[in-house]
Amino acid sequence: MTYALAPHAIPSIPVAGTDLRFPVHRIYCIGRNYVDHAAEMGASVDRAQPMFFSKPADAIVIGNGDVPYPLATRELHHEVEMVVALASGGRNIPVAHALERIYAYGVGLDLTRRDLQTIAKQKGNPWDTAKGFDSSAPVSDLHRAAAVGHPSAATLTLHVNGMLRQSTDTAKMVFNVAEIIHELSKYYELTSGDLIYTGTPAGVAVLERGDHFRAELAGIAILEGRIV
Ligand code: MN
Repeated sequence: MTYALAPHAIPSIPVAGTDLRFPVHRIYCIGRNYVDHAAEMGASVDRAQPMFFSKPADAIVIGNGDVPYPLATRELHHEVEMVVALASGGRNIPVAHALERIYAYGVGLDLTRRDLQTIAKQKGNPWDTAKGFDSSAPVSDLHRAAAVGHPSAATLTLHVNGMLRQSTDTAKMVFNVAEIIHELSKYYELTSGDLIYTGTPAGVAVLERGDHFRAELAGIAILEGRIV
């Protein structure tokens, strides 16, 4: 087979402690997964109806690299999140077997064009332009569950220019990791290479050109970078 045009490279993430790279298939995100963040957005949490959206696989930014300030916004927001990387998937995955699908954990930013999201909410439009833009998914190196286990409680923080902006414990998630995988697999057939951004706590705020960010999932993963 010969492609008509040169195909794009498969987006991939370094696997810590190895020479391997994790090939990204899809990026799924859950919204409103911490009560304090839902409250600051004027939204409520609904355990009966999780809220999902997605980003393109090539939205990742790896290697603690510079993040270009995106087009078409004047209100770029940070959302620090634990990131889960799947080794396998399926449909309708039971909660009790969800963690078996996980390959690795990391930390990332669900960057958001908040001004566009506000307009989308007002108009009842999709969130794609607010969430799924170029370089909207900075992510740390991935740390294998075989090495770090399955953290049910981990401190998650974001510092910007050395100042603490967001801090929580992942034990406070409305849907825990196993429940997210279970719920997501009701809508999509999950598979190897899928990434899941697991939601952000309160404290989302603007990032400006020149800002340095440092996201940490304590004891597991660190992501640093700069908005340029
Ligand atoms: Mn988010």
